Amino acid sequence: MDIDDEKRILDEESTINAAFQEILDIYLASQHRRKVELITKAFNFARQAHKGVRRNSGEPYIMHPLAVTRIVCAEIGLGSTSICAALLHDVVEDTDYTVEDIRNLFGDKIARIVDGLTKISGGVFGLQASEQAENFKKLLLTMSEDIRVILIKIADRLHNMRTLEFMPVNKQYKIAGETLYIYAPIAYRLGLSRIKTELENLSFRYEHPEEYSRIEKKIERTQQERDVLYHEFTSPICDGLDRMGYKYHIIGRVKSPYSIWNKMQKKHVAFEDIYDILAVRIIFTPREGEDENNECFKIYNTITKLYNAHPDRLRDWVNKPRANGYRALHATFMSKRGEWIEVQIRSERMNEVAEQGIAAHWKYKAQGEENSADEQLDNWLHTIKEILDDPQPNALDFLDTIKLNLYATEIFVFTPKGEIKTMPQNCTALDLAYSIHTFLGNHCIGAKVNHKLVPLNHVLKSGDQVEILTSNSQHIDASWLTFVTTAKARAKIQAALRRQQRILQRDGEEKLTEFLQKEDLMSHSNNIEKVWKLHKLKSREELLEALGGGKITLGNEDKDALLGNKKFRFQLFPFFGKKENDGNEEHKAEQFESVDRKHPIKLTDETLHSSYIIADCCSPIPGDDILGYYDEEKHIVIHKRNCPVANTLKSSHGDRILAANWDTHRTLYFQVPILMKGIDGFGVLNEITTLLSQQLNITIQKLTIEGHDGIFEGTVWVNVHDVEEVRNICDSLKKIKNIQTIARID
Ligand code: MN
Repeated sequence: MDIDDEKRILDEESTINAAFQEILDIYLASQHRRKVELITKAFNFARQAHKGVRRNSGEPYIMHPLAVTRIVCAEIGLGSTSICAALLHDVVEDTDYTVEDIRNLFGDKIARIVDGLTKISGGVFGLQASEQAENFKKLLLTMSEDIRVILIKIADRLHNMRTLEFMPVNKQYKIAGETLYIYAPIAYRLGLSRIKTELENLSFRYEHPEEYSRIEKKIERTQQERDVLYHEFTSPICDGLDRMGYKYHIIGRVKSPYSIWNKMQKKHVAFEDIYDILAVRIIFTPREGEDENNECFKIYNTITKLYNAHPDRLRDWVNKPRANGYRALHATFMSKRGEWIEVQIRSERMNEVAEQGIAAHWKYKAQGEENSADEQLDNWLHTIKEILDDPQPNALDFLDTIKLNLYATEIFVFTPKGEIKTMPQNCTALDLAYSIHTFLGNHCIGAKVNHKLVPLNHVLKSGDQVEILTSNSQHIDASWLTFVTTAKARAKIQAALRRQQRILQRDGEEKLTEFLQKEDLMSHSNNIEKVWKLHKLKSREELLEALGGGKITLGNEDKDALLGNKKFRFQLFPFFGKKENDGNEEHKAEQFESVDRKHPIKLTDETLHSSYIIADCCSPIPGDDILGYYDEEKHIVIHKRNCPVANTLKSSHGDRILAANWDTHRTLYFQVPILMKGIDGFGVLNEITTLLSQQLNITIQKLTIEGHDGIFEGTVWVNVHDVEEVRNICDSLKKIKNIQTIARID
């Protein structure tokens, strides 16, 4: 070993020691019990277990568990058990040590958490649908057993996202997509709002690097303006609070690039049109003997003496916390410059809960304080357990079912006896029935909302008083799945439908056996696949169900199919020839391996339409951030990176995602719809068409326009080469008087 190597290793050793010391310092400054010895033991054990291994970044591997531990300790505020488990989280997965070894050295509690983390290591989503369902179920199961497992997993994911630059690009999309799809919502649901924001932002940065930096620059460029606004707006507030003798600090919070972008996309507005980039947060120390909830309203009153409050934007999460435990009073005021500014008022404790989520709850719970947020979390975990009790064959359905309940905002409804129930927004009467009891859901025929009779699919509003009506003769219908919005209702309906299916399949099985016996075809029963294909069905199960339900009957054609009749084969071939390889997974995997996943695909004018399929769900054009999806049929489908379909694919079939870039040179045209909204003035339409066809020389494919109450809304389909051209068109259209919104839509 030469001197340089030796020096480098010494440097690394001291970096590792310093990182660990920092964690100890944070831990010792916290309110947790002092278990330094155990933590040091876990650190030394992990360090020697990972010795000699490096991460993609070139760092010694132990730097990763250390970074995860730091997040667990400093950003989530967990104690020694979680700290030890975080230090050890990759030991069983990546080294020869077993969970038993961990149990012998560190006890059962830590071993169980490490075991949970090992079970859900790797991606949540594998190549096979069945695999992802299993993995995701495991994730939820470990979560409902010990919530610390998922908290550490989120910390692990956060550090992996922070170091994502060292990953190959297609892996980046998979990891970023999965993060946005599942980890950010779970983090939000557990009240880790700061971590959720960071996860979203990092995903956004890797999926849309240019958009990200464009928005970041705009935030920077407009910062000075906001500083002035902030100062003007807050200094009278500070004077008022000082006069009242409050101890507080006040900060300006700037919206994250991701949430700005998200709003721009959702509302079709420009950066300049987003008025709530700045929010003001007041965090106060409660005064001796005063109720902190009341104090929030006192501070609110002080501000209403200075500024006018928006009548519809007072949010009382002080008395009715969000389901993730978040408490604060939000109000929006009109500044002297005529801009609405949101003010968030929280006590120090509320702030801690807002930043550290449920971990902070435990701390106060340990101090003997109960609150309704704990109860809500328990309820939620209980619901997850209930859903897990029913086997869900389709992984994606299952994922969507659970996801439904992660981001929903809540409404409050009342039972006939005046009890209050929290439900997600847009839930129906049937959802409420299921949330009370499965039996009530299964037999629900309608409801009385505020004493008026409504159907099952009636959407509930906050404040509604709801009485569920049932009948024993009611039976579950598949159509219910089209309107329920909660995970529990969906899961319970699916479970009941599957029970019905199983009964039909049993009957079908009997009919099939009968047929085979009658025709003396017993020995050919392994050719059943030919029969279900003949009836254009997708599986043996579907065939049995159709038979059982009397939708089809078996006859001579089926007999021919089972006997392998040549005529039949000949007919079948053109339809199913392409799928000959189905069921031969190995062959497919081989094909897949031959696709070069290391380098991004280059889409050129020549190859675009011959070698790829442009997804019509999002219709990307040159200049859009895109990715490729290598589908089951061995085609490469090009999606926009933020296409909802692509998002599902990233999470469910992440290994089939390919990096892709444009390399086109403006020879091809693409049709793009542009949305226009504005005030219906005389000749607006004429101005639009003149501008497009005469000044910009753009071909208009189609134009629809509709006006009512002096407002018009229209869509124009134009032929363009790329995003740049769309942007120019939009910029020019915006200059027309009376036009207020211009946006490209999908
Ligand atoms: Mn890890």
